[in-house]
Amino acid sequence: MTKVTFFLLITLVAAGQNRDYPVKPVPFTAVHVTDAFWAPRIETNRKVTIPFAFKKDEETGRVDNFQRAAKALRGEPFENHKPPGYPFDDTDLYKVIEGASYALSVQPDPQLDAYLDKLIAIIAAAQEKDGYLYTTRTIDAAHPHPWAGKQRWELETVDSHELYNLGHLYEAAVAHYQATGKRTLLNVAVKTANLLDQTFGPGKQVIWPGHQITEMGLAKLYRATGEDRFLNLAKFLLDSRGPDTVKLPEGVRGHNGTYNQSYMKVVDQTEAVGHAVRATYMYSGMADVAALTGDEAYVRAIDRIWENTVNRKLYITAGGIGATGSGEAFGKDYELPNMTAYNETCAAIGNDYWNHRLFLLHADARYIDVMERTLYNGLISGVALDGKTFFYPNPLESNGQHARSEWFGVACCPSNMTRFLASVPGYVYGQRGDELWVNLYVAGRGEIKLDNGRKVTITQETRYPWNGAVKLFVAPDPSGPLTIHVRIPGWAREEPIPGGLYHYSDQNSERVTLTVNGGGVPLKLDQGYVSIKRTWKAGDVISLNLPMPVRRVKANDQVLADRGRVAIQRGPIVFAAEWVDNPGNKVRNLMLQSAAQLTPEFKPDLLNGVVVVKGRAFAMAYDANGKIARSDQEFTAIPYYAWANRGRGQMLVWIPETESAAKPAPRATFATSAKVTSSPGHRGMALSAIQDGEEPQSSSEPGSSFDWWPKKGTTEWVEYAFGKVVAVADSEVYWFDDTGRGEVRVPASWRVLYKDGDEWKPVQDASGYGVAKDQYNRVVFKPVATTALRLELTAQPNFSVGIQEWKVK
Ligand SMILES: [Zn+2]
Repeated sequence: MTKVTFFLLITLVAAGQNRDYPVKPVPFTAVHVTDAFWAPRIETNRKVTIPFAFKKDEETGRVDNFQRAAKALRGEPFENHKPPGYPFDDTDLYKVIEGASYALSVQPDPQLDAYLDKLIAIIAAAQEKDGYLYTTRTIDAAHPHPWAGKQRWELETVDSHELYNLGHLYEAAVAHYQATGKRTLLNVAVKTANLLDQTFGPGKQVIWPGHQITEMGLAKLYRATGEDRFLNLAKFLLDSRGPDTVKLPEGVRGHNGTYNQSYMKVVDQTEAVGHAVRATYMYSGMADVAALTGDEAYVRAIDRIWENTVNRKLYITAGGIGATGSGEAFGKDYELPNMTAYNETCAAIGNDYWNHRLFLLHADARYIDVMERTLYNGLISGVALDGKTFFYPNPLESNGQHARSEWFGVACCPSNMTRFLASVPGYVYGQRGDELWVNLYVAGRGEIKLDNGRKVTITQETRYPWNGAVKLFVAPDPSGPLTIHVRIPGWAREEPIPGGLYHYSDQNSERVTLTVNGGGVPLKLDQGYVSIKRTWKAGDVISLNLPMPVRRVKANDQVLADRGRVAIQRGPIVFAAEWVDNPGNKVRNLMLQSAAQLTPEFKPDLLNGVVVVKGRAFAMAYDANGKIARSDQEFTAIPYYAWANRGRGQMLVWIPETESAAKPAPRATFATSAKVTSSPGHRGMALSAIQDGEEPQSSSEPGSSFDWWPKKGTTEWVEYAFGKVVAVADSEVYWFDDTGRGEVRVPASWRVLYKDGDEWKPVQDASGYGVAKDQYNRVVFKPVATTALRLELTAQPNFSVGIQEWKVK
């Protein structure tokens, strides 16, 4: 089908479909971004990340899984029948195909187009005759992955991810169809959806996706094909979710009901709970189905859940949802720890899908406020500036234990990033009849077709997010009356985030101004917009000035982790102090006085061009008498999203403002100044955590320990080399033990050795080797004069071993 007939079809389908979002998004294909912030990122995504992710999909067997499944279907021999790594690995290929299709929509690339054709043929060949598509089972149906279950669908509500995979297939198929006009992947998708429709629904089997996205995918498939069955099925999946609606096979236990939001009917839910990616995908699916069916109960539910999220569960980086690593889940109200924040990159993406949809439902800028904050902070922090390494969690504080990785065993985040970044220009505008919403400020040109058939070209000139001066050149064709809703961001209206979780703690006297052709427009706000209704003609210009002073943000006092601390914000950007820019390569010892002046400075050569915030701060340290000493020093903060591009080290978003919140550097001791080494650990943890002088609160406290997980039952060592001969006779160890969430326990046994020439010898007359939790285990021994000391630890069988802190005297 040619593109022309495709668009005609869409128009005809649209005529039959009366209902959809009240506000329509202006597709990214109509918005050409030329700014210095997003355009290079989108280009890096196209030229680096997408090919890189395809290469990883090939290298890690994700493409081969489809080829093996196809061989199994054809009865051809093949060697490795082992089930793939995870039952959801198929989605990583689908997501990158989606991202690549978006890239193709704006930039022809015959080579990429041909590569997609090849991949789609490989996918199509792995589809079973009746439409079933799930490589994990097809490769060897008699011995599938344990999460897949013996029969199709029987473990879907637990961990099989059969429907999750299809949801991502639908997103990819519609993207590819719209980009190329080719039905190849769409046909595969429709065939699977037909199978679902035959199997599930009223009077048929009941099911709901263990991991949501199928609902959003089916809504897209419905819009692309006009098949009501697919929309009805999306609604059925949502309405079926709930406790006890699906019976599990004998002896199988499901997840608890909050983890996958199945603890009550979706329309009755009021709080953001459980796995944050699942949750935001579900809320997005509910918004889609509500828009397409007019179901008000869905809207009421997601509105309530949104209020709960922004008032109690949102990080200042907003991507920032999902406080706990255990269950990758939302925490309790106000539970927003910084160093151990989970904030999965995919949850940031899901949060933006959800908030954008709420805007399309309500035409209210507060959803764009959350979306924009997420976009510029907790979302793009997920990918390095070079486009080749990624964060899965996005913490707000680091002691050097965090670093981006090339890929993950569970690779959802990198592939998700490819599809999201490619579609960013689609979040700039919205339209309805004779109305146009300007949501994001990004230099470039929008060629917008209003749904009444008129065209409007709108050109933005701005250096946003570094400068808040924006010029919008409006040229409607034909000229005539048009209402332009100009968003005044919450951050410029004394509201860092909608709701009561954060507030500015400083004063600002600079005011927002708005003019049309030089004439002032009163800032009369309606749902966060100034609405300008007039007869526009080519040459008309709107000038918006959003002053961007450096601001201080404080959290609601109920957020314990942020008490006595302040975050720095300028425009939509949240800042972080990172080790490289600050004296002594430390930031966790800083205290920023509320009176300290902070000034912005644009650095064109730093981190691809960023504004940094400079000032003076106190470095805090314990002196020889155990008293806290302050020294005044230079302070620099960079945009949070750009941290971890220059190696491992400390990072801090919430900076202490009071001495009681500060973490003074420890007094230099043998231990803190020793060179520390260990038998090989895993996970690239920072060994320095055991000598940083920070007092642990408990053995289970995460974030500032070192362990040897996943090695189990082994004997390990850690060593302090003093660089000179010292006399020691006293050692204290605080064990790490994550009972309840991990596999690290106090050791079965341990001892202290000292270096005598080239030999390691046990110390004499040791007073005892304790393994108590939540306290130091002290051992005194016959004094030795030595250059190095070792702890030798033997782990309990089936467990790992780890250390919070090790002191030596
Ligand atoms: Zn992810």
